[in-house]
Amino acid sequence: MKEDTIIAATGRDKKYTHGAVNTPVYHASTLTFDTVKEMKRAVANRDKGGLSYGRRGNPTTYALEQAMCDLEGADGCFLYPSGLAAITGAILSFADAGDHILMADGVYEPTRGLANTLLKKLGIETTFYDPMIGADIAGMIQDNTKVIFCESPCSVTMEVQDIPAIAKAAHGRGVLVMLDNTWATPLHFKPFANGVDLSIQALTKYIVGHSDAMVGCVTTRAEHRQQLFDMSYQMGYCVSPDDAYLALRGIRTLKVRLKQHEANALKVAHWLTGRPEVEQVLHPAFESCPGHEFWQRDFTGGNGLFSFVLKAANPAATTAMMEGMKHFKMGFSWGGYESLILTYYGIKKYRTASEWEATGPTVRLHVGLEDVDDLIADLEQGFARFNANL
Ligand SMILES: *Cc1c(COP(=O)(O)O)cnc(C)c1O
Repeated sequence: MKEDTIIAATGRDKKYTHGAVNTPVYHASTLTFDTVKEMKRAVANRDKGGLSYGRRGNPTTYALEQAMCDLEGADGCFLYPSGLAAITGAILSFADAGDHILMADGVYEPTRGLANTLLKKLGIETTFYDPMIGADIAGMIQDNTKVIFCESPCSVTMEVQDIPAIAKAAHGRGVLVMLDNTWATPLHFKPFANGVDLSIQALTKYIVGHSDAMVGCVTTRAEHRQQLFDMSYQMGYCVSPDDAYLALRGIRTLKVRLKQHEANALKVAHWLTGRPEVEQVLHPAFESCPGHEFWQRDFTGGNGLFSFVLKAANPAATTAMMEGMKHFKMGFSWGGYESLILTYYGIKKYRTASEWEATGPTVRLHVGLEDVDDLIADLEQGFARFNANL
């Protein structure tokens, strides 16, 4: 089946839908059995779609797991109540006290927070590495290194990592590669074909796609499936069927939405390159973005999320810019249909393994599905307010 067909067909097995086009929302904690045999069968098959207890899953969540496996080419998918829970679940499923993990310096900030707090408390040591390290990561692998954690492109700073080179070095030493694949979605980067062992996603972003539900997932090949499932189960993670339904619904339009987000974002990004206020555009499709060559080699598309660096500025100027926006609203997260803007001043303080030279603040845009000329006009007026307050 070609990708568009998988997007339309996946997660709609009749055992989930009973003939409805969409898998319904199954609200259930308790499931009841008529015979002991039936109960035993459900328990024995609970990791394979058996219905035993609500926390273990129900047809709505199983349908979403099936869809994520089909889209990413995985053998197993575990759902979590948020993207951050998926990151925590993946790492804690495979790293123990006394182990060491390597983490990209540009990871999503709460991922860094996890390493510096909970993982540290549990005796798991983290060393951050330059996201552009590539094959040289081999020199940082210790005898107790269990995991190399990647995120590509990195959050806000957008470096695209050489995942195949990192995976080659990792596998030579028996180390697992985990990738936060949220930006690419399963459509634009194939983690398992590129050497990743566990792919993590905040479905909250483009999969749900409408800014109204939080879900995370980890997908994996067969060899790591059982350990991921056993440990994540033990942590009590599960997802509401309403949110699983919204994620399944989002999948149906993922590809057409991404195409429009990508086209709009490219137009905005090109426009920004001509603005005197802008120092550098950090969009993977642009040569000015670190790792652009890996994006060209390994990715099959982009989306609406990118950043740009401003020349020297002050908080009054960026505040004036952001507060008056009509369409680019200030908000954390991204991946919905709407445009968003955030300004980051403190990038240097979140980096410990790589330089961040820029003197000006970094602005991250999520370019939504509004008319792109309206969006550019919004930014143009934003720059006028910015300049008036410099
Ligand atoms: C938002 C995000 C997460 C966390 O997802 P939540 O569902 O908000 O917990 C993880 N990784 C990346 C790259 C993100 O952008």
